Amino acid sequence: MTLKEIGEFGFIKKISRGCLIRKENIVRAIGDDAAAFKTDPDQLTLITTDLLVERIHFSRSTIAGYDLGYKALAVNLSDIAAMGGAAREAFISIAIPEDCPLDYLEDIYDGIKNLAAKFNVNILGGDTTNSRIDLIINIVVHGTVAEKELLRRDAARSGDMIFTTGFLGDSKAGLHLILNDIAADDESLEMLIKAHLLPEPHILEGRFLAQQPGIHAAIDTSDGLSSDLRHIVEQSNVGARLYADKIPVSENLKKFCTRFDFDSVKYALSGGEDYTLLCTASPETADKIASEFQKEFKRPLFPIGEITDTRQMELIWPNGRIRSFSPSGWDHFKEQNK
Ligand SMILES: [Mg+2]
Repeated sequence: MTLKEIGEFGFIKKISRGCLIRKENIVRAIGDDAAAFKTDPDQLTLITTDLLVERIHFSRSTIAGYDLGYKALAVNLSDIAAMGGAAREAFISIAIPEDCPLDYLEDIYDGIKNLAAKFNVNILGGDTTNSRIDLIINIVVHGTVAEKELLRRDAARSGDMIFTTGFLGDSKAGLHLILNDIAADDESLEMLIKAHLLPEPHILEGRFLAQQPGIHAAIDTSDGLSSDLRHIVEQSNVGARLYADKIPVSENLKKFCTRFDFDSVKYALSGGEDYTLLCTASPETADKIASEFQKEFKRPLFPIGEITDTRQMELIWPNGRIRSFSPSGWDHFKEQNK
């Protein structure tokens, strides 16, 4: 058996065995966006970590230091957001190759610090070392959430509405432009590149959702809608039905897809790194939550489908055609077929 055959999630399953020695006070362990454990009678501590490796996740020749630092912290904050938490403290570890200019490193920390300040996060420490060739950044973020407000992947129920807090697919389009060295010759292409390089973690949206009584499950869209939704479906033992014409696609992505001849729904389904939140809400509360969200953030909470009891994921096209779909997003060890 090879890593390629079992994939990232098969590997995580394998190494998860034997990890939990003391089960008391652990609310979420391996398998959610962040770990959650009790440190206080009604407060949970959240911990998440993310590793960015040069030539795997980024290329120094195509990302500015500032953007790299900003994104490295943003992806961690997004995981805290997916648990409904407030981010509190961060630890930054970095392995630096000899040829990396000091200016570039200072820019990385400027990007991290600016985003940290925006969400009231302290940077409390980390580790620095050297590296042979590649720059490697690891960030750990600590957050908190009241136990009754915790959002988790395994709490979706049949009949729930499925929502996303923002557009999907923009980041993948931005990555396409960067990888193919296509100049951003208009504002819409610039916005797509920005969506890829400077994703906005939905911390405030996560806090808002956590305080709504009808919200059941949540996850952030890091690997792609189809892959991320699968985690909710599998962990909650349910199914999901999405409506192709309801998946929110930005005007920028529509223009991009027309120009480069791509299908925007496929882009939205398989495109990772959007860092919106996916959540499910009971049908009785869904309308009210969506209208409160609109009032609070001046933009919609997009309904994209519903949770079913079929254990399948299906996509309904406007002509009524139903297609089952499987995850087509990012898996770090499997061959990519994007
Ligand atoms: Mg996540």
